[in-house]
Amino acid sequence: PTDPAALWSTLTPGPDGLVAAVVQHVDTGEVLMLGHMNAEALARTLASGRVTFWSRSRRQLWEKGETSGHTLELRGLAVDCDADALLVRAAPRGPTCHTGAPSCFFRPVGEPAAARPSAVFEQLFAEICERKAGRGMTNRAGKSYVRDLLAGGVAKIAAKLHEEAGELAEALAEDDRGHIAREAADLLFHALVGLAHRDVPLADVAAELARRMGRSGLDEKAARAPAAAEPD
Ligand code: AMP
Ligand code: ZN
Ligand code: ZN
Ligand code: ZN
Repeated sequence: PTDPAALWSTLTPGPDGLVAAVVQHVDTGEVLMLGHMNAEALARTLASGRVTFWSRSRRQLWEKGETSGHTLELRGLAVDCDADALLVRAAPRGPTCHTGAPSCFFRPVGEPAAARPSAVFEQLFAEICERKAGRGMTNRAGKSYVRDLLAGGVAKIAAKLHEEAGELAEALAEDDRGHIAREAADLLFHALVGLAHRDVPLADVAAELARRMGRSGLDEKAARAPAAAEPD
């Protein structure tokens, strides 16, 4: 049991009375987010087992997940060399970023998105959610295609989904991999916009697919077991 006051007294907060708190996924090591803690936030984190920050923008204590339910369960703490930063190892309940991304650090700087498919989908979906929230880049005219689509509501998004599904189906009839990939990109992009429109996290789709993958294995077993039990 860590005494929060004793631990705080070993730290060297900045002039604002805060220490930086880097949150890391306890299992994967992924860096999830950066927050700030004062003595009270650290004490609450230790007492509740749920990571609690000091919100600099709202100037109040902030238990991560207090409105979203996407809490961070405390699993370990480390202090850095000069005692002005904490490493918080946590088990996240849901996506840590308010955009729906698992980590807040989904925007690589100065390099194209990694070719790893899951990373590209995560980054793209987070950016669509950013546009929905009214943030993020627009073209020179200050317009955003995503925002136009979202503003058009279900009717506009559904029309594009039908159109792009048809185009992909037609492309599949030809034997041009580049064209197929471009049409699939169109369809998947608009599917992501549809998810964002209805606030369905990408993680829910992944969970559903993972559940089916797990089940298909079980189904296969279940289908095989009685046959194996039958006499020849
Ligand atoms: P939550 O703590 O998840 O219930 O979110 C409450 C509010 O805190 C959200 O509406 C966001 O404005 C903000 N927020 C949530 N998660 C993050 C995050 N990872 N980084 C920065 N701000 C966040
Ligand atoms: Zn330091
Ligand atoms: Zn974030
Ligand atoms: Zn298309």
